[in-house]
Amino acid sequence: MSITVETYATLAEATSAMRDKTQFLGGGTMVVRGINYGAQDYNRVVRSTDAALRGIRNEGNQISIGAGVTMSQIMASSSTDFLAPVARLVGGPAIRNMATAGGNLFVRPPYGDFGTALLALDANVQMSDGQSLPIERFYAQRDSQRGIVAAILLPRPAHGVFRFRKVTRTKPKGASVLSIAATLPGGSRITEARIAFGAMGPTPLRAKEAEQALEGASLDATGIQRALDTCLNGLDPSDDSLASGWYRRAVAPVHLRRLLLGKES
Ligand SMILES: Cc1cc2nc3c(=O)[nH]c(=O)nc-3n(C[C@H](O)[C@H](O)[C@H](O)COP(=O)(O)OP(=O)(O)OC[C@H]3O[C@@H](n4cnc5c(N)ncnc54)[C@H](O)[C@@H]3O)c2cc1C
Repeated sequence: MSITVETYATLAEATSAMRDKTQFLGGGTMVVRGINYGAQDYNRVVRSTDAALRGIRNEGNQISIGAGVTMSQIMASSSTDFLAPVARLVGGPAIRNMATAGGNLFVRPPYGDFGTALLALDANVQMSDGQSLPIERFYAQRDSQRGIVAAILLPRPAHGVFRFRKVTRTKPKGASVLSIAATLPGGSRITEARIAFGAMGPTPLRAKEAEQALEGASLDATGIQRALDTCLNGLDPSDDSLASGWYRRAVAPVHLRRLLLGKES
């Protein structure tokens, strides 16, 4: 099957060119792989050279990451130093040089580690038509829309508040059995925690009951127990070649415990 590739100078033009059987091209690590594997669900690829897709900008206490920014660029920028450990765990070096922040929002499990971090960080997804969507709403409607993401806006977390953990079978570049990201503000007593799991549902998902259970709690074995007991509620992991849904459910609380207590094992 032949594929048409169209390049537009502006995001506005690219947005109007999106229609059925069309994929927007980010870094292409999945789209081009799909073409090579004979994808049947699209025969048109739209890309844009608009500068709005590139660049990491500090906007007061917020950081704007262009959707076309790659994992390698995230790792290299001092503005996104807190996200470097997440970006470093996406694929190997060749993938990280191509894989974009915008593209990571659309991939299926076991991928989507960067999006999991963005969900815990309470990011906003800026669409090319000007809409700004809280990331949780974006994920809820992701599969029913074909808009283009222009940028991601997120608050810079205070030092030490953001944590991330990726569980793989092979190191250093395996895909996720699961990933967990958390923002844990409040010092000795946690307030307004956000916990997101990747590969534990069709999109990254928040563990809201665990978040509530941490309200006012201290980060010690007793303080986090109720969060561990409730963290699986609302999660729906699938079976794949890396792990069964059963296994993912069995180990998720173990890894959440390690993340909350700041332990490697
Ligand atoms: C060998 C290998 C290892 C990988 N390892 C990991 C890993 O460890 N962790 C992980 O999370 N992912 C991994 N991936 C998946 C993938 O590389 C990343 O998720 C990457 O961030 C996807 O971004 P991309 O720019 O390459 O997406 P593309 O392939 O360009 O696009 C992916 C999807 O996103 C859509 N899209 C892209 N950009 C936009 C935009 N701006 N607006 C709207 N839609 C858009 C495309 O239309 C397409 O549907 C791996 C992939 C491979 C091939």
